[in-house]
Amino acid sequence: MKENLIISACLLGIPCRYDGKSVRKIDIAPLLEKYNLIPVCPEIYGGLSTPRIPSERQGGEVTMQNGSDVTENFKRGARSALEFARINNAKKALLKAKSPSCGKGEIYDGSFSGTLTEGNGVTAELFLKNGILVFSENEIDKLL
Ligand code: SF4
Repeated sequence: MKENLIISACLLGIPCRYDGKSVRKIDIAPLLEKYNLIPVCPEIYGGLSTPRIPSERQGGEVTMQNGSDVTENFKRGARSALEFARINNAKKALLKAKSPSCGKGEIYDGSFSGTLTEGNGVTAELFLKNGILVFSENEIDKLL
């Protein structure tokens, strides 16, 4: 039986990104041979709309470019994504790089200047704290 793998929905080309565009940058064929892909979009689960004003994380807070505090939306979305992973008994997640929700290892620094800094998105962080192995879209090789 194939293992279940949580995946950021936008990596599958689902237009849930902040800009409402559909962009699929990864080849999912090799993944489908080994995994059942379970798509999640924490920002949508957190009650945000598409399209939406972009957000960045700084410390424990997430703010939109217009200054609105959306930290609670991001936390709620992360909890729902974790719940989804648990329901599906998924132990691994493949998440979109650099996102304030899904980014692993490096994210934009909160200045909205395109500058990256060390850190995890809110969902990636919650997954890691709860024992889910998180892989960024640049680490697909490690899943195959
Ligand atoms: Fe993609 Fe994650 Fe952002 Fe949703 S929250 S659009 S899945 S990066």
